[in-house]
Amino acid sequence: MKRRKFIRNSGTVAAGIISTPLLASCNEKSKTPLKTSNTTEAVIPIAICTWDFGNATAKAWEVLKAGGNALDAVHQGVMVEENDLNNNTVGNGGRPDRDGHVTLDACIMDKDGNCGAVLAMENIANPISVARKVMEETPHVMLAGKGAEQFAYEQGFEKTDLLTEKSKQDWLEWKKTSEYKPIINIENHDTIGMLAIDKNGDIAGACTTSGMAYKMAGRVGDSPIIGAGLFVDNEIGGATATGVGEEVVRTVGSFLIVELMRQGKSPQEACEEGVKRIIAKNKDKQDFQIGFIAINKKGETGGYCIHPGFTYRTYTENGHINNPSESYLEY
Ligand code: ASP
Repeated sequence: MKRRKFIRNSGTVAAGIISTPLLASCNEKSKTPLKTSNTTEAVIPIAICTWDFGNATAKAWEVLKAGGNALDAVHQGVMVEENDLNNNTVGNGGRPDRDGHVTLDACIMDKDGNCGAVLAMENIANPISVARKVMEETPHVMLAGKGAEQFAYEQGFEKTDLLTEKSKQDWLEWKKTSEYKPIINIENHDTIGMLAIDKNGDIAGACTTSGMAYKMAGRVGDSPIIGAGLFVDNEIGGATATGVGEEVVRTVGSFLIVELMRQGKSPQEACEEGVKRIIAKNKDKQDFQIGFIAINKKGETGGYCIHPGFTYRTYTENGHINNPSESYLEY
């Protein structure tokens, strides 16, 4: 039986009760033992991402360690997951919509508040790269559907069949019941949202997903929506989200978290408040997952979710850590 958790005093967390970091090799995924408390130490450079996408943070760290900027770090970091065919929730190999079409969403935001996004784009394996092109090469912020795909071809991206045999078989199986029911903590990974601070103290973020499996054709969640799935303000920090996007959009979650940090909350406190706003709008319904992560200008981090099981990766000079997120519910 689920029960409401007594929210821990975030001041205690912020005061820095930090357990010994458990270091993981770059290629380890999902099997890494977890720390017992959220990290709040201030350290830069840093890369942080939703879930246990250790290969992605390892790539981002490689960029940061070589002196690269935060924008390149998050871009190259999340691309690792877009290219991983075994990852059924991001990029190539992602689960399709209910009609069997893989439609991808992504957005990216830099230290100057520039941003770009693609929504419900088909046949292109790296939506985050197209989102960056939208940011850098067009007067627009968002391109959707066929327009996004056409733009990608014009920019030299190749047409790719994104539906793997495995995803196709899973979809055919799903069609037997055709019940749309987002699964909490599916495969222990989902959308990848990544934030990074480089050696100059500049912040950037990226977010990329195949969206909710078996969604309606044309459905777009929070992930490519600046302010909802991702937000960066170089003076304050950044935030990004995973989970049922409709609920994140309703609270403009990532923007909210950055604004809460602007008002003085720690990243941990801000993520907790973000989740509580969503809970407040769903008093009778808590059978869905949301996970937020945030970082402030100093390099302090936080993460919070509704259901236990969400984790987030951090990579700093102090190690490569899979952090268990505290949750609103416990069971
Ligand atoms: N937030 C994503 C969406 O709603 C999916 C997820 O993170 O699970 O499309």
